[in-house]
Amino acid sequence: MSQDDRIAGTLLATAVGDALGAGYEFSSSPIGEVDMIGGGLGPFAPGEWTDDTSMAIGIAEVAAGGSLDPDAIGERFLAWYRSSPPDMGNATRAVLGSVGTAGQLAGAAAAMYARQPRGAAGNGALMRTAPVALAHLGDDDAIAAGARVLAELTHADPLAGDSCVLWSIAIDRAIRQSRLDGVWDALALLPPERRERWERALDEAGSGPASRFAPNGFTVTALQAAHAAIQLTPVPATRPEAHLADALVAAVRIGDDTDTVAAIAGGLLGARWGASAVPARWRRMLHGWPGYDGEDLVRLAYEIVGDRPG
Ligand SMILES: [Mg+2]
Repeated sequence: MSQDDRIAGTLLATAVGDALGAGYEFSSSPIGEVDMIGGGLGPFAPGEWTDDTSMAIGIAEVAAGGSLDPDAIGERFLAWYRSSPPDMGNATRAVLGSVGTAGQLAGAAAAMYARQPRGAAGNGALMRTAPVALAHLGDDDAIAAGARVLAELTHADPLAGDSCVLWSIAIDRAIRQSRLDGVWDALALLPPERRERWERALDEAGSGPASRFAPNGFTVTALQAAHAAIQLTPVPATRPEAHLADALVAAVRIGDDTDTVAAIAGGLLGARWGASAVPARWRRMLHGWPGYDGEDLVRLAYEIVGDRPG
């Protein structure tokens, strides 16, 4: 697959993972066959994506205009919040519900972290970070800075920002270098005092088993779950691109916050294997807020990248 295909796959497969996991979110029964069944935490139709993709679209639409302006992105988050979505993370709900304008978001998130330090490291920033890499392909410092600033709109714990830096750089490497292990490159971009912690977390995830990483509402465990699903799922020798669907199913089977873990994994898998690796039936079923389908996500990804040299 070409680099254009990998660009197109980044948001598309984020949404595929989200819609695939939606029907199993916080399910207490064991997960057998995995498909886009709908249901879950809201009246989601089969193929409908949830908060993960909707918030990523908020970032993507602003990025398509040429920047990652946090105020403009915050306004998109607020527009989504005001649409009364059925499925929303706790920190995101608390912060978005407490402000009048986007300019107040980061301050509200920081105040919430100060009040309740244990509540600000959820996976709600990591789940929406895929468009950041598209906005700054090939520019590590800009990716890292953008990922952190956008995380801090709702999640002020530095671990949330770290997880977004790690995953966004991994997506950059997948698109530009066809690698699935680019997360390791990002350690050098983290503050030195937290590198060792993340190195240990990645080592743990790589040794598995993936089922260890449930519950996964915490951003570190969510990243470990997605990383484990991707690294521990074999790449088929004859049809390597089938790894995308296989690893997404493995991500859902970990359980707990299934749509978010699969959305996170999907961002990286789509960036590696391309839009062409997404099973056609899933691609056709995709849709969600704000009235988009899978082809809109492909269009948005190209618009973000614009005419940057590839
Ligand atoms: Mg969700």
